[in-house]
Amino acid sequence: MRKILTAALIAATILSASAQSPVSGPDGRLKVSVSADARYSVSYDGIQVLESSALGFKANLGDYSKLSFTEEKASQLDQTYKMETIKSSVVNYKANVCVYTFQNSEGKKVDVEFRVSNNDIAFRYLLPREGAPGGVRIFEETTAFKLPQGTVSFLTPQSDAMIGFARTKPSYEEFYYLEKPLTEKSEYGHGYTFPCLFKTADNAWVLISETGVDSRYCGSHLSDWDAAKGYTIAFPLPEENNGEGDTGAAFSIPGATPWRTITVGLDLAPIAETTVAWDVVEQLYEPSIDYKFGRSTWSWILWQDPSINWDDLVAYIDLAAAMGYEYTLVDAYWDRNLGYDKMEELIQYAASKNVGVWLWYSSSGWWNDIPQSPKDNLTTAVSRKKEMAWMKKAGVKGIKVDFFGGDKQQTLRYYEDILSDANDYGLMCIFHGATLPRGWERMYPNFVGSEAVRASENMVFNQNDCNLEPEFACLHPFIRNTVASMEFGGSFLQRRLNRNPNRGPRRMTTDVFQLALAVLYQNPVQNFALAPTNLTDGTSEVCLDFMRAVPTTWDETRLIDGYPGKFVTMARRHGNTWYIVSLNGTLENPMKLDLSAICRKLGLDAGVSSIKVYTGGNDAVVSAKLPAKAVDVAPTDAVVAVITPWR
Ligand code: CA
Repeated sequence: MRKILTAALIAATILSASAQSPVSGPDGRLKVSVSADARYSVSYDGIQVLESSALGFKANLGDYSKLSFTEEKASQLDQTYKMETIKSSVVNYKANVCVYTFQNSEGKKVDVEFRVSNNDIAFRYLLPREGAPGGVRIFEETTAFKLPQGTVSFLTPQSDAMIGFARTKPSYEEFYYLEKPLTEKSEYGHGYTFPCLFKTADNAWVLISETGVDSRYCGSHLSDWDAAKGYTIAFPLPEENNGEGDTGAAFSIPGATPWRTITVGLDLAPIAETTVAWDVVEQLYEPSIDYKFGRSTWSWILWQDPSINWDDLVAYIDLAAAMGYEYTLVDAYWDRNLGYDKMEELIQYAASKNVGVWLWYSSSGWWNDIPQSPKDNLTTAVSRKKEMAWMKKAGVKGIKVDFFGGDKQQTLRYYEDILSDANDYGLMCIFHGATLPRGWERMYPNFVGSEAVRASENMVFNQNDCNLEPEFACLHPFIRNTVASMEFGGSFLQRRLNRNPNRGPRRMTTDVFQLALAVLYQNPVQNFALAPTNLTDGTSEVCLDFMRAVPTTWDETRLIDGYPGKFVTMARRHGNTWYIVSLNGTLENPMKLDLSAICRKLGLDAGVSSIKVYTGGNDAVVSAKLPAKAVDVAPTDAVVAVITPWR
């Protein structure tokens, strides 16, 4: 009898271990299974993409890393939202939701909410208010991502803190390491910066990131690989922010952690087209004005620090006016070189040419040693509001804030404080030397974009970055730029990246490649790297005409084809017009491009009112008809097609 009872008990335990319903996307292909001991696994069309991986965290309220299941609640979401600042202007988000409730060994409860759409999973922890405590401090997360054996990675390392130029790292400008085994140790030993791309042995693509990170949490990244656990969520380093501030997170309860996101596809279209970073977050405040996005000139990128003077800045304002651009960006040291009164005069001059002015500010502060000014104006609410009141009076349109301290919660709070105050004064914000934006385009309506990438300035500084440009350009649509706007500052039309045309690093990609980047890189305000000399030095009129007309906001984005670091063909629609760009990032292999087939795929075969096809590399030509057959795109070259159908 006793034996039979034991067997019955084991059967009951097994039953409860598998009692939780899996949650699948609406089309049933992406599936998350959750076990009774709070582990989860993921499959797509039956192909395992994450093996049994841990959920949980350790907090001041207790250890939530060993949990047992108590109940579950399923529901559905079907929401449509509009955004001007991301890859698509109207997004319909359909997901199946399941909230699994667990308890720890002390009987304390935690919910794990999973939202699963056709290609995206987002999950987070929710803590109820139980008894007296008003808040929680999270010390570490045990959340893991155990990719199957044989998976290869496409990753950029999380940097050491307080190293590099004036001790400004991490600045999220590291190199990429492609097709490495999971066991590869990261460059600094701190793991990898989000987003993280993987390809399994079964050729499934997996992108892991996070979103909805605001003042109520720290920014996270992935640890190095652990054979038993996989990758785990890693918190900021203690050394960040000059060693000041906690590495964990604290928030009021009831409350929730940010979303961890997993995007899965059997090809790269779901990776390049995902909107999960915005699907699961909410706008945190109303825009105070109707923010206008557009194109901008930027003297610093080619002419550097000496260009922050009246005459050069006027030349860049005149360039913006000649190109029909909405803005110009004035970089560091304007306070020292021009001063506030002269800046007001410059802003008035720009306004007389219908050009709005953005101003550079240092974020710091005491978390690095940078000399660039203005500095210390934004660090406290008191000084910030005084400065922003002046900006509003002077007619400044936006600010570029540079050199942040890392991912600690105090820094995430600082981003939010700047954005929220800037909105009160009708100012847009871009961030450089800054972390990955995590859902911020939707959360903060005056947020425009962040650098958080090895951007164009490195090409001006180093030949090596010019050599890497073709390969890296073909990474960003699948990694950095797919989860957030990317303030790259590109599209050079000079051959050498210096004010002196006979000096500086040599650009290795063609002019048409640079035109393609204006479409490929998505940021709702683009600081293009054109120079006033482009109007007089024989720069191709074909290219200048393209740069005059190219938009910076998109209604739809479709990946046609591509492979990270090798090539990419992407189509973006602005209004009724499709911009198709095809870039070859390799150094040796030509690629075939069949524009007619792409047009059929986009439904453009019913007749078009206008076609412009840009080819010819450094001798750019524009043609008013599609090539009769597939064409070769040479290494480091690109083809751009601009097609407007009959309405
Ligand atoms: Ca930078």
